[in-house]
Amino acid sequence: MEKVRIQDNLYMAVNGEWLETAVIPDDRPTTGGFSVLDQEVEALMMKEFKDFSLGKLKTDIKEMEYAISLYKKVLDTEKRNELGIKPALPLLDKIKGLKDINDLNKMAYELMLANVELPISLGVDVDMQDATKHSFIILGPSIILPDTQYYNDEATYNQLIGIYSQMAKNALAKTNLTKEEQDLYLADTLAFDKLVAKAVKSRVEWADYVNNYNPTPLKDVVESLKPFDFEGVLKTIYGANTPDTIIVYDPRAIKEFNTYFNLENFDMFKHYAYVKCLLQASQVLSLDLASNAGLFRRALVGINKEPELEKQAYQMASKYYSEPIGLYYGRKYFGEEAKADVISLVKKIIETYKERMAKNTFLEEATKEKAIKKLSTIVIKMGYPDKVDEFYTKLAITEEESYFDAISKLTKEMINHNLEELNQVVNRTKWVMPGHMVNACYNPTSNDITFPAAILQKPFYSIKQSVSENLGGIGAVIAHEISHAFDNNGAHFDENGNISNWWSEKDFESFKALTKDMILQWDGIPFHGSQVNGELVVSENIADNGGMAVTLAIMHTLDKPDFKAYFKNWARVWCLKAKEEYIQLLLKSDVHSPAELRANIQVRNFDEWYEAFDVKDTDLMYIPKEKRIIIW
Ligand SMILES: [Zn+2]
Repeated sequence: MEKVRIQDNLYMAVNGEWLETAVIPDDRPTTGGFSVLDQEVEALMMKEFKDFSLGKLKTDIKEMEYAISLYKKVLDTEKRNELGIKPALPLLDKIKGLKDINDLNKMAYELMLANVELPISLGVDVDMQDATKHSFIILGPSIILPDTQYYNDEATYNQLIGIYSQMAKNALAKTNLTKEEQDLYLADTLAFDKLVAKAVKSRVEWADYVNNYNPTPLKDVVESLKPFDFEGVLKTIYGANTPDTIIVYDPRAIKEFNTYFNLENFDMFKHYAYVKCLLQASQVLSLDLASNAGLFRRALVGINKEPELEKQAYQMASKYYSEPIGLYYGRKYFGEEAKADVISLVKKIIETYKERMAKNTFLEEATKEKAIKKLSTIVIKMGYPDKVDEFYTKLAITEEESYFDAISKLTKEMINHNLEELNQVVNRTKWVMPGHMVNACYNPTSNDITFPAAILQKPFYSIKQSVSENLGGIGAVIAHEISHAFDNNGAHFDENGNISNWWSEKDFESFKALTKDMILQWDGIPFHGSQVNGELVVSENIADNGGMAVTLAIMHTLDKPDFKAYFKNWARVWCLKAKEEYIQLLLKSDVHSPAELRANIQVRNFDEWYEAFDVKDTDLMYIPKEKRIIIW
């Protein structure tokens, strides 16, 4: 391969050689960067789980026992295969037996606890206007395809729904339905799903999440949702404490409720609920049913092989017991020295952010002060929590329970736990990501940042890497997360995590204009035969832009800054090789830009990039000064 000049393609110059030979594992859609670390953590923890299950390892984290117990259930293929579909039949028969809407209304709560789809989705979330409390939220049902736009493209729709239908047919054949019923149930499922897709939000609409906050009087919601007895469901759950205001996350789905759910198509809905429940249950039944239930998801991301059973067992344990596993991982593999080092880096980044805010040229003094206050109050969650959330004590499972029964119990506990939170104050010490996850996040309603132990490794961070490299890696990620406090969504929340307009009108207009520039800089960039949707990815691009601006400012304060090393490590972090199907899926549905473009497009906004590698207007990675955008 001819060597790519860094001035023409930073990403390929740094990662090209690796990409040429890298092999994506059969059971994964990607490898590289985040994905390689994730594979390593998984391999390490799988080994530990095996040792635990053989009694070779012990821990004082009580809830790890439950995780091991679930792990063993997944591996008990003899029992799973012997039971076949049997454990799920009582629930499926219950759905099949629903005579009419009154029947559904009577059983809605019970079905909800079994995670059966209702005509609406509901739950409890932190209230965006008063982040100390919770509110009851509703939205439309989930759709089969990853986004509503798939329903407008006939060829893609037919191809994907074809795979889904095959999967559903295979599963339906194992039930006690007649052949005619099986065909009808599937046809109705697809028809109902199409109706829902016309009413619910698209991914682009969801990306603007402040728009989710639509407090609506209970009686109005109840009226919209008739003949479904929403009030009855709430009364069953909350009795006298039924909330009188509901936060409608997807107003169109509620307004147009009767276009997809009404007295005439009750059976259509029932068949849809049955098929969805069957496929969900299949995942924890016999091996053939479970394997079949993964067909559609694997096709969506372009993988043709399921993970080996031991990996599935670990992944399932990790899904239900993420916090104890994360605590175990963090205690064992995350050093105190690294923790202290990274915390001091976070503090440095926040201080630099504050200095930049104070010098900002498009904000008035009053707005700057509020932004600085928001930065000063950011809470840092580093590595892993001190202890496992008390809730996990409720997730005990026994040896005797079947895999299906254990998962049903866990699901019920989790749904109940969520519902019970309505009348409780928000616990701000709760961690939203476990210690063994290779990721990081900013939470706008608690104004905090979380960096799980697993991301604090090479190439993101190492005590052995140079400070410049760490700044281009974990530094830029940390500053990215902090920048979410001031992206197009985060900007609406104050230092307490409440939606409140702390901007002057003029300042907010200036910010919106910059946001628009960022959308235009990215919108329509060709990628793998498709294009970037600038609006979908704008919040993440603002965060990358802020992350780079602040870490580059720190670079200038170093004794011996190595800008080349900074940019190279930034490109290394975004190294990614992915299955084509997965690339297309992400382009349509992910709020992050493709990794390769994150590496290459963002750096062009910064003068340091041009100076570090002497990038000229004849080079491909050059844009003129007037097109460069720096927001924060
Ligand atoms: Zn982000």
